Amino acid sequence: MPKYDYDLFVIGAGSGGVRAGRMAAQLGKRVAVAEESRPGGTCVVRGCVPKKYLVYGAEYGAHIKAAKNYGWSTGRVNFDWLTLRDNIQNEVSRLSGIYSNILEKNGATLYNERAELVDKHTVRLVSSGQEVTANTILIAVGGRPYMPPIKGIEHAIMSDDAFLLSALPAKAVIIGGGYIASEFAGIYAGLGVKTTQVYRGDKLLRGFDEEVRDIVTEQQKLLGIDVKLGAEPTEIKKSSGGLIVSFNDGSKIGTDCVFMATGRKPHTLGLGLENAGVKIDKSGAVIVDEYSRSSAKNIYAVGDVTNRVNLTPVAIREAMAFIDTVYKDNPRGYDHSNIASAVFTRPPVGVVGLTEAEARESYKHIEVYTTNFRPMKNVIAGKDERCFMKLITVGRKETVVGIHLVGDDTAEIIQALGVAVKAGLTKADFDATCAVHPTLAEEIVTLSKRSS
Ligand code: NDP
Repeated sequence: MPKYDYDLFVIGAGSGGVRAGRMAAQLGKRVAVAEESRPGGTCVVRGCVPKKYLVYGAEYGAHIKAAKNYGWSTGRVNFDWLTLRDNIQNEVSRLSGIYSNILEKNGATLYNERAELVDKHTVRLVSSGQEVTANTILIAVGGRPYMPPIKGIEHAIMSDDAFLLSALPAKAVIIGGGYIASEFAGIYAGLGVKTTQVYRGDKLLRGFDEEVRDIVTEQQKLLGIDVKLGAEPTEIKKSSGGLIVSFNDGSKIGTDCVFMATGRKPHTLGLGLENAGVKIDKSGAVIVDEYSRSSAKNIYAVGDVTNRVNLTPVAIREAMAFIDTVYKDNPRGYDHSNIASAVFTRPPVGVVGLTEAEARESYKHIEVYTTNFRPMKNVIAGKDERCFMKLITVGRKETVVGIHLVGDDTAEIIQALGVAVKAGLTKADFDATCAVHPTLAEEIVTLSKRSS
């Protein structure tokens, strides 16, 4: 008789949890996965996937407008939010179903309910009250939106709600200057919502390269977004005409919708971690070592709940490293350096490696190569939107340590450039590579030093 009901119990059926559960089951382990919401996690159900579809949806309006100069004439153009919303939700349901099936097909048991830790080896399934035991437990519960506790916050929506609205607001105030705020401001503006993005700092996307921040802040305005900087909300009041948001600079904005995109926090509250001796940090994140092992030696954690690099593909890589460590006698961590990523603003941002400021802090000799141009597609389209590229090298060999792009298709281009930076290629390698003409991407192999 095995000592425990399962070899592995995974709490959370998001990207990291499902990958780990499926891989362990394929290795013949007895696996259970618990999920309190729909399988798929933030990425599939209320994040990356539905958000990317909204971005696609938002771009059609601009495409239709630009098509005129390319010879196309169109009649009256209408946008129907419910069509887009429901088509996206149908796709989310299809994908969520695939996540369930993939676990069950591989022999894992899926519990569609919340699970909490009772002790190091015991999990309580909250709805049914059933208790099950496991040799190893993996916490992959992700994060949840954080909303600051200001007066009237109950009138605000967050990203989870934004996908399900029964009607699109005519006016919206989006609070925040990070990924979600900047992406949704672009979506809303594209769908015809009169959008104001309010950020407490002096330019959007803190943590990104300064020039990228400058350009994104400016390009948001080209979309018709009213970008208000240096202000934090203090109160949201309901009025007869909608909502009124007050700010700490004394200003007020009347609107139909206040969308708080003020960050996310690990979803560990009430999970019973203290019952199992699992330590968390100030943000609520599970503290793990390089092998994703928590302070309890049979309990591991991957993905956003560890607040390392909060991106879907990273959670998947961490899950694969967990499988190698625990079940394949190959203990390894996941190297979090040089992870390429994108912000799906309009146009998007694609980045990998160090910002210029980070490179200057760590290296004595750095060189910076940039270009800033109006892509040919935009010339005939009559659009002012530009493309920016920056490449940063260090040392005598000029190893490329950072690439920062803003412009159409840069979210696609950066994936390939991530390979180059991860491989430690030099500026000479880029220069030796022949251009693909005429493309945006060719500029990356013909960059000149920034004139300063
Ligand atoms: P971010 O941390 O990116 O941004 C949060 C924003 O809210 C910041 O601008 C922050 O300001 C601001 N803020 C925080 N508290 C307050 C407050 N009390 N009042 C006013 N403003 C406040 O979080 P997001 O929610 O946008 O995204 C969460 C994470 O999800 C991201 O960090 C990313 O890892 C992931 N994500 C990735 C995406 C992608 O890969 N494309 C897309 C969406 C999310 P300040 O800068 O001053 O702290």
